[in-house]
This record gives sequence, C-alpha cells and structure tokens, in this order.
Amino acid sequence: MEYSYYIDTHSHLYREYYPNDLENVIQRSIDAHVEKIILAGVDAVTPKLIAEAVELFPENIYGLIGLHPSDVKDNYQDVLDELEKHIEDKNIVGIGEIGLDYYHDRNFEKEQQITFKKQLDWARDLGKPLSLHIRSAYNEAVPIMNQYEIGSLKGVLHCFSGGTQEAEWAKKRGFMIGIGGIITFKNNKLQELLPSIGLKNIVLETDAPYLAPTPHRGTTNESAYIPLIAQKVAEIFNTPVKEVMKQTTENAIKIFPDLIQE
Ligand SMILES: [Zn+2]
Repeated sequence: MEYSYYIDTHSHLYREYYPNDLENVIQRSIDAHVEKIILAGVDAVTPKLIAEAVELFPENIYGLIGLHPSDVKDNYQDVLDELEKHIEDKNIVGIGEIGLDYYHDRNFEKEQQITFKKQLDWARDLGKPLSLHIRSAYNEAVPIMNQYEIGSLKGVLHCFSGGTQEAEWAKKRGFMIGIGGIITFKNNKLQELLPSIGLKNIVLETDAPYLAPTPHRGTTNESAYIPLIAQKVAEIFNTPVKEVMKQTTENAIKIFPDLIQE
C-alpha cells in the first residue's frame, strides 16, 4: 500500500487547548494531508474530550486511553477504574500515554510504577498498542517492560529522549520511535542518532499544543505542522519527503492497525 497522507501519532487536540478553533485546527491538518490524528489520553477527563473531537471528525480523529505518569496521584486506582470503562469507546485504538516521568517530580515514584504496570497489563491482555512517555526514567522503565515477553507489547516511544542503547532496546522489542518537533531544533542529539534508528522504525508526532517545530517554536503547536517534521527527517535521511510520508504512515498503521476502518 502506497500511503499518500500523514499520521500524527501523538497529539492533544482537546477543546480546552483550542477553545475557539478546534474545528479549524483539525481542518487545517487534513488540508495539510495529515489525515489521521491520534489523541493521547492523560487523565480521567480526556476520554470525554477525545470523544468530542471524534464526533467532529470521525474519519480523522482517533484516541488512546491512559493515565499519564505526571498525573499519577494518590487516587490513581479510581482513575484507572474510570479509564477502563472507556477502552472500547468509539475510535479508541490503544493505551497511552503511559510510562514513568521522574524529570519534574519523584513524589509518586512508587505509584507511577504501579500505575504503569497495570496499564501494561491491559495492553498485553487486550492486545492493544501503546504510546509510552518515559522521561528521566529509562533505568526504571526498561526493567519493568522487560518483564513482559517480547511480542506481547507493541507501541511507540513517544517524544524519544533516549540514546543509542535505548534505541537499540526499543528496536529489539519491536517499538517504534516517535519523532516530533524537537528534531527541527538546532543542536539536538536525535539528529545524529536518527540514521542508525532507520526510517522503518520511526513514526511522526506533534505532541500539540506543545513542542511546535521550527519556525513555529514557542507558539501553539498543531497537527498541520507534521510536514515540517517530515521535511527535516527527509533531509537527515537524504530521501524524498514522499518516501518519509509513505514509510512513517505504514509504520504507524503497523503499530495501530485499528486506524484503518473496515
Ligand atoms: Zn503527550
């Protein structure tokens, strides 16, 4: 299959971030050939926000259900119980974003690990793909994930911040590397790492409204900027941007097969 559109595999196009123009933001994305957009979940409220966006553009908007590590508090079990009810909601194609984040806060270190494991169990038991958020916590997250049989989990390392070792580990486990706006920033080490990761092992993402690519850095990000990320990736691999579109879309569908509606 020769795909002629892009997929934004990780964004947060919720009404609360785009109160006046969510429709326009999504339409601009479609006009820019970013025809499928996956909205990552972060807490108990996001299933509702995702459902709202899905209702607006049911052929273009998909979602994930998950409790973000930085949103893990004492009430994590209540949140998980609520989220579990939404796993089979319309256009939900996986679990995320989940993981460990010790960058800002280690107060709920233990709770983050419990929450992470429970959601990994969901993914394994239901055969659902993952969007993983791991920040300043590879040393803790890798051993947890290694407890699962190879092949029993699949997904994307969203906003990849690891090095060579982590990238090799991800490839061995069958995970894709999520490449976003950071790749367009000056002096980022991901640019040097990318050739050894390979085009067959990456997917594109914006993480909108955060991390807008150059030349929009510092402003509100949106999925319509995916082509800017693709352009940079094409330069790094010295390949036509069309090839980046085709391959990254194929990769995304391999991880998230439910993006293709019957
Ligand atoms: Zn995110």
